[in-house]
Amino acid sequence: MRTNKYYIEQEKIYIMNTYNRYPITLIKGNGQFVWDVEENKYLDFLSGISCTLLGHNHPKVIKAIKDQVDFILHTSNLFYSPPNIELAKCLIENGDLDSLFFCNSGTEANECAIKLARKYQWSLGKEQKNVILSAHHSFHGRTLGALAATAKPKIQEGFSPLPLGFKYESWDDTEAFCKAIDDNVAAVILEPIQGEGGINQPPAGFLNKIRQICTERDVLLIFDEIQCGLGRTGFLFAYQYFNVTPDIITLAKGIASGLPLGVVCATQKVAKTFSPGDHGTTFGGNPVSCSAALATINIILNENILEKVKELGTYFKDKLCLLKKNYPKYILDIRATGLMIAIDFNFKNLLIVEYLQKQGILVHTCGENSVRLLPSFVINKKDIDIFIENVKEYLNDIKLRQIK
Ligand code: PLP
Repeated sequence: MRTNKYYIEQEKIYIMNTYNRYPITLIKGNGQFVWDVEENKYLDFLSGISCTLLGHNHPKVIKAIKDQVDFILHTSNLFYSPPNIELAKCLIENGDLDSLFFCNSGTEANECAIKLARKYQWSLGKEQKNVILSAHHSFHGRTLGALAATAKPKIQEGFSPLPLGFKYESWDDTEAFCKAIDDNVAAVILEPIQGEGGINQPPAGFLNKIRQICTERDVLLIFDEIQCGLGRTGFLFAYQYFNVTPDIITLAKGIASGLPLGVVCATQKVAKTFSPGDHGTTFGGNPVSCSAALATINIILNENILEKVKELGTYFKDKLCLLKKNYPKYILDIRATGLMIAIDFNFKNLLIVEYLQKQGILVHTCGENSVRLLPSFVINKKDIDIFIENVKEYLNDIKLRQIK
């Protein structure tokens, strides 16, 4: 039998060193569980960084994929494709925007949104209105445009020159942020809840205020819902949770239950700026990914999933708040919206991430001291209790060691 160690060593030889991977080689998934090559079973509170929204290998999604594979794998965008059009209809009819573009990933969706915003302003004769404003601690992707929009010097380092026309402001200071929306700004891009940055919500009223200023100044508002959209807040779109409608939304990650797909939705006034040749991609809107996405969205909408996310989110948050109350020295903060959760500890997060892995639970880090939970929507209260008990055991263990 091949081992985790075997694959770790092989990877080092053949694959570029761009990921800090955990020492686990996953080979199988079912619902909220995954198995590694040594047949260890894990309760997955991470879902491939929020990609397997309905758990691993949901039977209806797998059926939709298999059915499509039997027909055709790829058409190119030179022809029409039913899954592509049916998915577009479903996303548009269940939201407030009018028209969309398909690509393959989150970073590509944001690249497209940036191009669309600039072309929109250009088409109105406002060429100088080309700056993209984003928030500190945001993450929008790693291609050069999306990286330039990502206000994190650490991940921009070494890749100069980045494209021009990007600037950043902290959303903790609403007045300063509004002031930054000057005559040169084409669009503001925001994650309504920052994922990589630590599951941060903006201050109350911030998104409303930015919506108002953008409307007044004909600046486009882009919501990057790549991590926080598609049910994670208990609403199909995160903008519905905040009741603030943007001009453009970007989606990816969980939309096709783990197959690659990105989406840019826009209002008609903005979308009509694009004409043939302005943007495109060979694989965008691939029929297999679109079939998986259509099955995913239909399940989310028709099988009471959004209500379940709200209920489980509240249950999880209550349990975590109680834990924080009982262990105030070790748990410094809990941030939770639906099933998008961060726990700040007073020690290095990797310590508890590795401990939980040994107990058969997968979670992820954000920053140095926070643990991030993005479980699938098929977890249940028992799974949450198992997680809480394991964290409790870890914290009791530290307590004991400190007494000794
Ligand atoms: N935007 C947000 C909010 C993300 O969380 C991510 C990925 O983590 C991206 C963009 C980039 O998406 P991708 O990794 O699919 O390119």
